[in-house]
Amino acid sequence: MKLYEMTALELSRLLQEKEVSAVEVARSFIERADAVEPLVQAYITRTPEEALAGAEAVDAKRSRGEVLPPLAGVPLAIKDNICTRGVRTTCASRFLEDYVPPGDASVISKVRAAGMPLLGKTNMDEFAMGSSTENSAFFPTRNPWDLSRVPGGSSGGSAAAVSAGAAPLALGSDTGGSIRQPAAFCGVVGLRPTYGRVSRAGVVALASSMDQVGPIALTVADAALLLELIAGEDKADFTTSSEPVPSYLDVLSQGVQGLRVGLLVEDGPANFDPAVVAAVQKAARKLEEGGAVVEEASLPHVSYALEAYQLICAAEVSSNLGRFDGVRYGRCVAGENVYAMFSRSRGEGFGPEVKRRLLLGTYVLSKKQYDAYYLQALRVRALVCRDYQSAFKRFDLLLGAVTPTAAFKLGEKVDDPLAMYHADICIVHGPLAGVPAISVPYGFDGDGLPLGVQLTAAPYREELLFRAAHFLEQSRGAEPLRPQLSPSGL
Ligand code: GLN
Repeated sequence: MKLYEMTALELSRLLQEKEVSAVEVARSFIERADAVEPLVQAYITRTPEEALAGAEAVDAKRSRGEVLPPLAGVPLAIKDNICTRGVRTTCASRFLEDYVPPGDASVISKVRAAGMPLLGKTNMDEFAMGSSTENSAFFPTRNPWDLSRVPGGSSGGSAAAVSAGAAPLALGSDTGGSIRQPAAFCGVVGLRPTYGRVSRAGVVALASSMDQVGPIALTVADAALLLELIAGEDKADFTTSSEPVPSYLDVLSQGVQGLRVGLLVEDGPANFDPAVVAAVQKAARKLEEGGAVVEEASLPHVSYALEAYQLICAAEVSSNLGRFDGVRYGRCVAGENVYAMFSRSRGEGFGPEVKRRLLLGTYVLSKKQYDAYYLQALRVRALVCRDYQSAFKRFDLLLGAVTPTAAFKLGEKVDDPLAMYHADICIVHGPLAGVPAISVPYGFDGDGLPLGVQLTAAPYREELLFRAAHFLEQSRGAEPLRPQLSPSGL
């Protein structure tokens, strides 16, 4: 088995036992990325020199006998909305095409301190607005399972990189599904942590009341390792919680005996692919076989959640993206006066989806429309939160779909924003309530494309997600899923 085919946990063991060096590991992923990138295009900016320098530093420390964290020497890919000192952070936008942050996001400081070599910055929908990575201002990323299909989004580059073996682990961000949906489309694991579990300091904001950073990995154990490293209180982000971070890896094999699982009746109306519904039902039966008690569950107000999410997201976007004025960050296009400069910089710097949300958000926050739209959306949000609270009185976990179908074709939805938003129907209500959720690969559709199932837990119960997802993964056969990619020269 090649190094780039191994899980982070396997690599960690080999590195600790000094069977391989961190430089060998980094080189293997760099070479694999050289081979697959012409097909997949998962990265906006690759940083092989930086990765090798990081790996050399780890090897030097290990040869001096230092005891290093478990992920030391395991390389990482980073979504391009997470600031990296000295490496451009574009958010896949023309506006920030040449923007080099003066410092690292808090999560980047943590992964650097743990000795993870950084492979580069991954493609995404512009400012994380989208579900296919086609809204990148630069190029679309392709799904390694079928190059004519999208990898999902907005963290599509991160999911595609892990799936294609161009990184063993990646960081993504999830505001309304952007970790879980691309993970499902690419046959990898993606976890959205509880709101407040992981610091967002230095992460370019989309919708601040929902943004979270989380792991994308080949296996549940790998995701658990990475979450354990990045989670925890951060003085630079006062929404982070002081709730202690447990050792997620330790609980993985506890099984699901006695867990109460609610099977969401809202997931699976007529327009869902029957293969998706079947995958969720099969997962429910497996959990039952493992000793979980599975009963039907309902979140009665989630049918209003998609509209509420879009309005709240747009409102927060219109406020957060006000800072891109041509003066403080990124692109500046001169004009005859300051207003012309603002308008030209924004007019040229932002793509169509960003502009659509800015217009919608500014409209719903305007004095006349505020009550009818924004306040109404906040009321729906309160009802959705209440739905989750009462569901978690009865259940430890909720089980449902991630997406109505497997990965769709490039170009299929990009000109129809409503169809694109609709594909997010199962993944936007959790973020409204701040709850954690995981997408774990489970089954395939009729075209052989991977499907995910989604598990959701009460706030700060990520360990339950890992336990149940690990159980499902093992029941599927413990090997990570791998697409048949045929890069030339390999
Ligand atoms: N697809 C969703 C949207 O377009 C989610 C985005 C995200 O989570 N960053 O808003």
